[in-house]
This record gives sequence, structure tokens and C-alpha cells, in this order.
Amino acid sequence: MKITSADFATSAVKLEQCPAGSYPEVALAGRSNVGKSSLLNSLINRKRLARTSNTPGRTQLINFFLINDSFYLVDLPGYGFAKVPARVKAEWGKMVEGYLSQRKQLRGVVQLVDIRHAPTADDLQMYNWLKHYGIPAVVVATKADKISRGRSKQNLAVVRKTMSLNEEDPLLLFSAVTGQGKDEIWKVIGEWVQQ
Ligand code: GDP
Repeated sequence: MKITSADFATSAVKLEQCPAGSYPEVALAGRSNVGKSSLLNSLINRKRLARTSNTPGRTQLINFFLINDSFYLVDLPGYGFAKVPARVKAEWGKMVEGYLSQRKQLRGVVQLVDIRHAPTADDLQMYNWLKHYGIPAVVVATKADKISRGRSKQNLAVVRKTMSLNEEDPLLLFSAVTGQGKDEIWKVIGEWVQQ
């Protein structure tokens, strides 16, 4: 996809604060530190429009980026911090599940996992929410540059098995360092937002 503009639009902590209007949205989800901001920045050819490496426990926001004045990429707050208090986890769940279950503009979710590790219980919970709410999803295994091709292949099979992906469920490899997988991710997003 040709990116003509990419601008931070707004942050929300609840559904009512999400942008008005009917632009389609594609959300990015993943554990904190999985490489979500790096993926977003790579997609929009920026060094750091999306902030990288969030601080654990910080107020968790849903961030909206307006792309080509026609759709939003939505950065969901990262999950899976080890030391987050139960209260913060509960707030995260309420906010994210509320967004996923009620946001009419949502066309699909890019869910990131780290290619070096098997998906975690949190990754499974997120993926199961997407399935439960019937939201189209693509799983993207990040940091592909950190392991060999042979190893990537083996680990992709582990991701597929752990997350119970069917053969037709898309699973892509990505690296923010080499740009591998970027065009394929844009192709999926482009179909979702009809660009
Ligand atoms: P976030 O918390 O999910 O937004 O993760 P970040 O994008 O901040 O990335 C976390 C760390 O992983 C940072 O040090 C990034 O530089 C690094 N990182 C992210 N993506 C990649 C990648 O594809 N390859 C490599 N080698 N490092 C990456």
C-alpha cells in the first residue's frame, strides 16, 4: 500500500473516547515488548511515530493513527506484564474486550507473537476473544531476523499448533529490521479496509 499520510489522531481509555465517524479500523494486539510499536512504525515508514517500549503499569491507552485520511491503525495496549497489579489487568481486560466486542468500525486484528517463543496463555486468550467475537485476524510472528530460517519454520509450526490455527488461518513472519513480511501484512490490511 502507498502511504500518503500517517498521523497520530487520538488516545482512548474507553469506547466513548474512540474517534467518531465511520472510517474502518484495524487493530494491533500483542504482549508488551513483542515489537508492536516497531511493526506499526515499519508499516507507516516512520522511525518513531508510535512510541516503543511502554513502561509497565503506565496508564494503558488505545492509540489511533489515521492513515491516508481514510482508515485507522489502532494500537491496543500491550498485555502480559509479569508484575502488573490485578486491578490494572482487570482494567486492561475490560477496555480491550469492550473495544473488540463493541467497536463497529473494527475490520480485523493483527495479533503479534514472538517467533522465538511459544505463544503464552495471554496470547491464547487474545486469539480466543477474536474467534469468539468473529473478528478477522492475522497472526504475525515478529523478530524473524533473530533466528535462522530453519528454526523459524519449526517455530511457526509450534505457533500454529499452540494457537490451534487452521490451515486457512493466516500466519505471517515479520521483521522490523529487514522489513520481511511487511507487504504481506499490508495486503491483508488493505483487503480489510478496502484500499
Ligand atoms: P512493543 O512493546 O510491543 O511496542 O515493542 P517494541 O516495538 O518497543 O519492541 C521491543 C524491543 O524489541 C525493542 O528493543 C525493539 O527494538 C525490538 N524489536 C522489535 N521488533 C523487532 C524485530 O523485528 N527484530 C529485532 N531484532 N528487534 C525487534
